[in-house]
Amino acid sequence: MTDAPRGVYALRARTLDEVAESLTEPGAMLLAGGQSLLPRLRSTPLSQGLLVDLSGVEALRQCTLADGWIRLGSTMTHSAIARSRTILENAPRLAAIAGLIGDEEVRNRGTLGGALREPHPRSDWAACLTALDTTLEVIRPGDGRSTVPLRDYLSNDDLRNEVHLIVEARLRPEALASFHYERQAGDAAGGPNCSIAVSTSYDGVHISKCNIVVTGAAPRTFIATASEEALCGTTATKEHVDAAAALLCDGVTLLDDSEGDPKYRAHLIGSRFTTAIRELLRTAP
Ligand SMILES: Cc1cc2nc3c(=O)[nH]c(=O)nc-3n(C[C@H](O)[C@H](O)[C@H](O)COP(=O)(O)OP(=O)(O)OC[C@H]3O[C@@H](n4cnc5c(N)ncnc54)[C@H](O)[C@@H]3O)c2cc1C
Repeated sequence: MTDAPRGVYALRARTLDEVAESLTEPGAMLLAGGQSLLPRLRSTPLSQGLLVDLSGVEALRQCTLADGWIRLGSTMTHSAIARSRTILENAPRLAAIAGLIGDEEVRNRGTLGGALREPHPRSDWAACLTALDTTLEVIRPGDGRSTVPLRDYLSNDDLRNEVHLIVEARLRPEALASFHYERQAGDAAGGPNCSIAVSTSYDGVHISKCNIVVTGAAPRTFIATASEEALCGTTATKEHVDAAAALLCDGVTLLDDSEGDPKYRAHLIGSRFTTAIRELLRTAP
């Protein structure tokens, strides 16, 4: 393949090793369900490179529960996650999130890996799985497998700018017990509007840990770190929650489009955050 003349080549990979090897080819590009990539290639066709179709790699479609981790293979479609017996029995709320995504066609073809790879401004999976402390297993060109917390992956542009394979996403099902997602569907095709995923560790008195991720409000899904820090260690009184809410969009440029201006969006995010925290405190395990 390395000595091939210029042009576009396609490889239907069968094994993880084949995919890993292909990553070192100049211009290698991975194709999963094609929901994001194919429209892009239609408007900007490739002139050269290797398109690697992942759909034949069985190892990437697996969903397992082992050692307390749920592992979601990266080419599981949203529909496959919604229907998976392992998910329905151990983490039904993940199935519910999968069922919220797009329309039937997007759910049947779009995959988890494709959804996490793109820094999509409206991404249910990026928001929810980051709030749930998910870890990704990835393969980089010429490298073995490594893991990266999704929280770091979201902002790691060095990694995002190079081709790499997301093998799987793994998380602890018990994380879902202290997780809440306030979502509103946007009117534009594709994705949530000003939605917020929150998870907390709350012992009935103090909040000792808090993840807050906002999607559908800014050019990228973002982590509200200032609010996380403001809420951690507090007793989550109304004053504490209001103070954290005021910091949600700190330093973030919010979208200004037909679905709302920045002021309206900031208001929506704040009120959804308050609802999420109230629900989490009310239902704390
Ligand atoms: C009409 C519409 C509605 C949508 N609605 C929603 C919604 O409500 N909520 C939401 O969250 N999302 C929504 N989406 C986004 C959707 O979830 C993604 O388009 C889809 O999941 C992408 O997956 P894919 O398999 O089609 O990726 P592809 O289009 O095949 O690939 C997308 C990108 O990811 C890369 N890639 C794919 N798989 C991997 C992998 N395993 N490892 C590394 N890189 C990889 C590709 O190289 C490419 O750069 C919507 C999309 C559309 C078109």
